[in-house]
Amino acid sequence: MRLWIYIAMLFLLFLGAGAPSSILEMAPPIGGLALASLHDSFAEVHNGHLHEAIDILEPRGTPVHAVVSGTIRKLFLSKPGGNTIYQFDETGVYCYYYAHLEGYAEGLQEGMRVERGDVIGFVGSTGNADSGPPHLHFAIFELSPQRLWWKGKAVNPYPGLVAAVKRAQ
Ligand SMILES: [Zn+2]
Repeated sequence: MRLWIYIAMLFLLFLGAGAPSSILEMAPPIGGLALASLHDSFAEVHNGHLHEAIDILEPRGTPVHAVVSGTIRKLFLSKPGGNTIYQFDETGVYCYYYAHLEGYAEGLQEGMRVERGDVIGFVGSTGNADSGPPHLHFAIFELSPQRLWWKGKAVNPYPGLVAAVKRAQ
């Protein structure tokens, strides 16, 4: 009898902990990505701003994959980011940001559902990366309760990317 009470309590604790963070379920944004291609540049200053992202150098046109399942929230052409994608995870807790894209996958639209691993765009050097080598600028934002795509707290993607690459190997 007492054992059942413990099990019930454990179950309630598990429920209380909520869904696991989507960061823990990430797949690499680039197929066949090697650990050696990942460098933690989160805290570096780029163009006078805290970088708060990871750059992954890849040849122009390399497919970029959705790191988690979720929704394409915004396709935005910005001066610094060039062609960008703001993707929300399933629960709208985190926003995944992909920038400097050469272009979007055919048919990609705002509001569209994507599965982890779907090709959503292609590596390029649009925006303020036009003088440098093509690369994916990848960031993660923890959204506020209002879930505004342009507003969030930057989370270092590096540990999550390393774990994703290890899982994919
Ligand atoms: Zn960058």
